[in-house]
Amino acid sequence: MSSDSCSHNCGSCGEDCGDRSAESTFEKLNPFSSVKKVIGIVSGKGGVGKSLVTSLMAVMAQRKGLNAAILDADITGPSIPKSFGVSGRAMASQQGMLPSVSKKGTQIMSLNLISENETDPVIWRGPVIAGVVKQFWTDVVWKDVDIMFIDMPPGTGDVPLTVFQSIPVDGIIIVSSPQELVGMIVEKAVNMAAMMNIPVLALVENMSYFKCPDCGKEIKIFGESNMEKIAKKHNISLTARIPIDPQIASLVDAGNVEEVNVESLNKVLDAVIAK
Ligand code: ADP
Repeated sequence: MSSDSCSHNCGSCGEDCGDRSAESTFEKLNPFSSVKKVIGIVSGKGGVGKSLVTSLMAVMAQRKGLNAAILDADITGPSIPKSFGVSGRAMASQQGMLPSVSKKGTQIMSLNLISENETDPVIWRGPVIAGVVKQFWTDVVWKDVDIMFIDMPPGTGDVPLTVFQSIPVDGIIIVSSPQELVGMIVEKAVNMAAMMNIPVLALVENMSYFKCPDCGKEIKIFGESNMEKIAKKHNISLTARIPIDPQIASLVDAGNVEEVNVESLNKVLDAVIAK
């Protein structure tokens, strides 16, 4: 394409010219925002604890004195605001939409903070969902964010793919349940990251075991973990396990995720910070 007819918007152009680069499909961050690092939290399917890990990474980063933010891209199952006890409608200024801020200072934007009725189901098609996520990047004023965690739409379909093509993600963390680690679901997530050239920083097995409150014994409800094998196969150097913990569930349900501490995620956070 000749340089004078180039719109510099590779995302909507079919030409395969020399200037085309993967980066040029990224949407522009709001000019009043500052985001130093972006980490995506992905899973093969819903209900495995992806939102929990996203919340905990932000909570623990905040505890370390970093300015953390969460972009809730899980549009059809947005659960982040509730786990932080954040409700009500997000405000806007002339510069753009303003994220809600949790008690401890994490900036959050989620569909639940802008929809009229948070119990209304989202029955939009993929491109509309992806469009909302893009707007969370382009239209929200993210203030001095050291590290942003994106709660990605579950799966490896059209919507997560569009999000990865629109937002410059520096690395991903894959969250899985023990059952998923038996099949090919995790492998699909690993392969998606490889296709997008995004490094997988860690594999987290959630609901990995239950610790007996009386004797402290680890009970592996779903049998021996397959995680190390899969991590090795895909050259993922960091793994972490999170037990099923009723206390985590009740703190999250009560909107107090900022009081949860999961020791095993500290090394994941350190790797993310070092990235
Ligand atoms: P996803 O984002 O993958 O759909 P969530 O993080 O929303 O999954 O988790 C689903 C539910 O399971 C939530 O109610 C959450 O509080 C609970 N949960 C997740 N992980 C644990 C755990 N390790 N122990 C107890 N409850 C958990």
